[in-house]
Amino acid sequence: MEHIYDTIIIGGGPAGLSAGLYASRSRMDTLLIERAEFGGQVATTNEIDNYPGSIENCTGATLSKRMKQQAEEFGTKFVSEEVLEVELEGDIKVIKCKGKTYKTKTIIIASGASPRLGGFKNEIELRGKGVSYCATCDADFFEDLDIAVIGGGDSAISEAIYLAKFGKTVTVIHRRGELRAVKSLQEKAFKNPKIKFILDAVVEEAKGKEMLESLVIKNVKTGELSELKADGCFVFVGYLPISELYNGKITMNDRGDVITDENMRTNIPGVYAAGDIRVKLLRQVITAAADGAIAATHAEHYIENK
Ligand code: NAP
Repeated sequence: MEHIYDTIIIGGGPAGLSAGLYASRSRMDTLLIERAEFGGQVATTNEIDNYPGSIENCTGATLSKRMKQQAEEFGTKFVSEEVLEVELEGDIKVIKCKGKTYKTKTIIIASGASPRLGGFKNEIELRGKGVSYCATCDADFFEDLDIAVIGGGDSAISEAIYLAKFGKTVTVIHRRGELRAVKSLQEKAFKNPKIKFILDAVVEEAKGKEMLESLVIKNVKTGELSELKADGCFVFVGYLPISELYNGKITMNDRGDVITDENMRTNIPGVYAAGDIRVKLLRQVITAAADGAIAATHAEHYIENK
């Protein structure tokens, strides 16, 4: 007989893993599908210091590994596959992957977000040749070299602090006169002698033959152009939801963030969204984990009330 899961979670970051934990703890027949590495964005974050209890050398990789192990111990099954198509309407929902098609009574969409591009000339050409979007993955390559970081949010500033452990210099280039990052991160960065700031500035162009050599920077107030020597350039200008699969099927805002109610319900009965993919103010591990827990709990109620 064809297997029908109680819930299928799409995405294996903190939102999906927490949904898996809560769903399988409630004895729901639970499958989690992830196309890349389990752990999501947080698995590539060096230090987690704002998830309660995450003190003393708590890396993103360790935290996500533990989250996965915990969900697995309660019975969540995991598969590594890319979801190609979803049928969300009706009591039984269908998820088509490359290798297999799955059926389920409920779906929890937790596919997260991916880095936005900086939008400067030669960014794509020099991607992987000095231009990067992940400090944990690539910091090693820039030992004692000159590093630039683009952006002024939590990601840019926390990763600049991390990159300063490797680079000779770290120059943060931010488009406004003030940083967006939380004050405690700003204070830490301002105190670090290796970190310099170029404010009110945007990167126009990356230059380099084989590898990145320099960045052309424009002062947005004066229009003046200057060139900064850079061996590495880390781009942290925000994230966009990975939600193309649901275009026209689920209600979203203009950016493509999925709209839910406070119980993580989308406009389709039995379909929930959790974590960075949904419209929300605070995108953190703690809020993703909470979303996952709420979504799984409501998915269980939904099945019981059917
Ligand atoms: P973000 O908060 O959206 O900040 C993006 C930064 O990039 C902003 O400073 C923005 O400038 C700048 N920016 C946007 N588009 C740009 C462009 N085209 N050119 C140049 N600069 C551009 O994104 P994030 O820092 O990645 O953080 C995303 C979410 O994750 C946030 O909710 C954040 O709190 C969370 N997060 C938390 C932590 C932590 O708690 N330790 C760490 C990482 C991320 P403006 O300031 O002018 O808008």
